[in-house]
Amino acid sequence: MNIAENILKFKQELPESVLLLAVSKTHSADLVMQAYKAGQRDFGENKVQELISKQVQLPADIRWHLIGHLQSNKVKYIAPFISLIHSVDSLGLLEEINKQALKNNRIIDCLLQIYIAGEETKYGLSFEEARQILISDAFRNLNNIRITGLMGMASNTEDQNLIRSEFRGLHDFFIQLSHVNFKPEILSMGMSSDYKIAIEEGSTLIRAGSLIFGSRI
Ligand SMILES: *Cc1c(COP(=O)(O)O)cnc(C)c1O
Repeated sequence: MNIAENILKFKQELPESVLLLAVSKTHSADLVMQAYKAGQRDFGENKVQELISKQVQLPADIRWHLIGHLQSNKVKYIAPFISLIHSVDSLGLLEEINKQALKNNRIIDCLLQIYIAGEETKYGLSFEEARQILISDAFRNLNNIRITGLMGMASNTEDQNLIRSEFRGLHDFFIQLSHVNFKPEILSMGMSSDYKIAIEEGSTLIRAGSLIFGSRI
């Protein structure tokens, strides 16, 4: 795997409106550094522990994204520096992020993670649950967070039509949300296996791991 080459290939291929998030989970800081030297600045991790251990070793101008499930008691560790949290799935978590953001004198950008796959997954909100959060008074009072968009993962399947329809549903919801108290900017959808479909369906941010760093197993 030539990481620099993989990054450059993506950069050439992606429309200007789509941000490449390099998912570096399970890969060493050395490999992250190879991507950094190729100009990559946005990196995603799914575990808080791994994220903070890389953050202290690597250049300060990296924009770190959390893409995995976040427990409320761990928010304090990432609040000083996190660039975007993709995986917000409850109002309680938002309240904790707001509290820790305030302590750090920051405004933290967040995405609501929406459950779009047909298969059983543990995390994410339904469209209705997300809407309820956005119209709630509790949410309106959180001045140190900003919801800048949505994140979703399609089913892990070979069925391209199913993947496409899940992404399309999320994009439709994203557009509808411009009417409720929310300015949708980022639609985080698409991974190594399905990013092309995601972009056709309106993604503005793709999360690619294996196509950049190689397979984890
Ligand atoms: C691991 C992961 C990715 C990247 O997956 P690849 O198939 O390696 O591109 C994207 N999004 C989330 C939420 C992940 O956990």
